[in-house]
Amino acid sequence: MYRIGNGYDIHKLTTGRDLIIGGVKITHEKGLLGHSDADVLIHAIIDSLLGALALSDIGTLFPDTDAKYKDIDSTILLSHVYKLINKKGYKIANLDSNIIAQQPKMMPYIPKMKEVLCKILELDNSQLSIKAKTKEKLDSVGQGLAIEATASVLLEKTQ
Ligand code: ZN
Repeated sequence: MYRIGNGYDIHKLTTGRDLIIGGVKITHEKGLLGHSDADVLIHAIIDSLLGALALSDIGTLFPDTDAKYKDIDSTILLSHVYKLINKKGYKIANLDSNIIAQQPKMMPYIPKMKEVLCKILELDNSQLSIKAKTKEKLDSVGQGLAIEATASVLLEKTQ
């Protein structure tokens, strides 16, 4: 039995915040604004996992009105969601994702992101894809005002 899920997220870039994507701190003059650490890639992945099992979404599970999620490390939220998926008897067959950012260049950070995410999600390198794109200077992402991410996941029933 297979279930497919997709996730999308966007966060605004602002000064005075660290830029954390895929659990990795990226050198940049701006960071993403959000209640948590605003890790746009992890949030898209979380929504793909929840979506695959029709378990609502990240905002419902971890409301931004709850003080305990203020500035929380999104890898903690991802671990929690992965355990939920396991409890339902599923594991990840493969996960594909995109980071859409005009700046900075994501490519140098992708191997480290894969290392962090493979560990949390118990995947090997060949099961996880992280691609980086720009927005060709179009719209808010292209103008460097925001960063987007998408994720698609295939879950496989194991029990
Ligand atoms: Zn988010």
